[in-house]
Formats: sequence, C-alpha cells, structure tokens
Amino acid sequence: MPRRRASQIVAVIWGVNIVSLLAVLGIVLFRASQRTVQAADVPTPVEMPGVDLIYTAPPTLYYLPTITRNPLATPIEGVTPTPFLLASGRRATIIGLSVSGRPIEVFTFGKGERQRMIVAGIHGGYEWNTIALADELITYLDAHPEEIPDDLTLYILRNLNPDGDARGHDRNGRANDRGVDLNRNFPVNWQADWDRNGCWKDPPVTGGESPGSESETRALMKFIERHQIDALISYHSAALGVFPGGTPWDKDSIRLAKEIAKITTYPYPPLDTGCLYTGTLADFAVSMGAAAVDLELSNHRDTDFEMNLGVLQMFMNWER
Ligand SMILES: [Zn+2]
Repeated sequence: MPRRRASQIVAVIWGVNIVSLLAVLGIVLFRASQRTVQAADVPTPVEMPGVDLIYTAPPTLYYLPTITRNPLATPIEGVTPTPFLLASGRRATIIGLSVSGRPIEVFTFGKGERQRMIVAGIHGGYEWNTIALADELITYLDAHPEEIPDDLTLYILRNLNPDGDARGHDRNGRANDRGVDLNRNFPVNWQADWDRNGCWKDPPVTGGESPGSESETRALMKFIERHQIDALISYHSAALGVFPGGTPWDKDSIRLAKEIAKITTYPYPPLDTGCLYTGTLADFAVSMGAAAVDLELSNHRDTDFEMNLGVLQMFMNWER
C-alpha cells in the first residue's frame, strides 16, 4: 500500500472518531440539560407564616422494609373515638396515642386550682365496664356542671388502653397491642418479671421492655407530670376492693380508700390474692404527690353507676 494512501485512511478514522466523540458529548449535554429542567419542575416548598411546612416528595422508587404484622394488633376502624356526643358540645383532649395509633382522650371539668383525675380502661376490654362507667360519669358532669366545685379541675381519662378494648371484651382484651399489662409498666417498683402466684397468668402479659416503655403509659406519665394531680382514682374490675397506692401503702391513699369503702360495697382492706403488684399507676401517682387508689367494680358487666356517682361527688370534695 502506498504510504500516502495509508495516511489518508488514518485521517478518515480519526475524523470518524472525533465526530462520534462530539455526538456522544452532545447527547450527554442534552440529557444533563433535560434533567435540570425536570429538577426545576419539582415544586419547592413554600413557607407561610404560622403554617407548618408541607412538602410532598416527588414520586420515587422506595425500598420499604418488610413489616411483620403484630399478631395482637387490632385493625383500626374509622369511627369517632368517643362513641357519644355531649349536650354541651364539650370535646376531649387527645393526650397521646396507643401503640397501634388509637387516641387517648381526657375530658376536663372545672377550672379550679386543685387538680384531680379519674382513669378508666387501663386493662382495656377485659375491664370494659370501667370505660362504660367513665362515659356515664362524663355525661353526668357535662349535664350537671354546677356540681363541680369552683376550686377544682377534674380530668377523666375514659380509656387508657383502647387497643385492648378494640381486641375484645374478654380476657384477651387486657394487654395493649404489644402484650404489655399497662398497670405493670409504670416506672415505680417496676420489674421485668415477677412471681405469678396469685397474679394474672392467662393469657400471659409482660411489664414491657423497660419502665414506661409503652406509649399509653408515657402519655399518662407526661400528663401527671405536667399537672399537679393531688388525688387519683384508677378504675378496675372486678370485685377485689379498693387498693391504696404506695409501698408501703401511702397514708392519704389509705384515707381515700376507707372513704370510698364507707359509701360503697367495695371492700377495704381489699382482698389479698397474694400477688405483688409492680409498676402500677397508683404507685406512680403516689410518687408524684397524689393520693391514689385502684378501685375495682363489683363484676365485669355492671358500671354500678349510682354507687360511683356517690364516689365522684365525695372525690370532688374530699379534703386532701
Ligand atoms: Zn384491672
């Protein structure tokens, strides 16, 4: 091959290479400019005074972790959390959510300096009649605001364990959706495990991974820490009587328990099953400066309304 022809071929190959290189460069630059245009199309969040920043992320491919369904979890139905309407239009304050996301509601009566509290439903559906009683007391006070002393603020938490209540009105409804007995989860005398002799056995419950590990427990702890509650009744069922809080039993709590026993058929001292109660709400309330009792209704069906209306009236006026 003549030398001149060979150099012509080399020149042609170089030419083709340069043209292809330019074409590739052109495509890359065009793509890049297109991407910039797309990025500019994504709406930038607009900040408005007093309004939380709302930003919807552009559709992207997300790799979500696989979720193992909690066997205890109860499907949340789209119903009004409070199943009744009050004549006054009074609404509950939501102080937190259960582990499965159900609201924990508190009704407030009065504006006085003394602050007292009634808690129902800590054992959920197993003790559903305490929730029914709380609803009756709330409805009564809403209709009779004149009975609330001027110097009192009364809080009624109608259902501390809405997941258990949703699961069933039987033994399966006692724990929350993580299998925790909420009345063993408070951070006073808390124990991971305890001797089950004389205590609840079936279905098995735990005291939680740590003191106050459950969102229901923490919601109520925070509420009690933020309000100076000087007396508290935690409703249960059934039949064991009135238990004062504190270890050993706190003096003022004993006085409150005796006062309740005097005007009801609920026994004080309470029946001793031999169970050593750990991590209870009443013990926590006492540690926060309240007089506190666990009060057990007569059975798992009735609200004993008349008797507990008497307890409410006494409790609102009780001298601490
Ligand atoms: Zn109970």
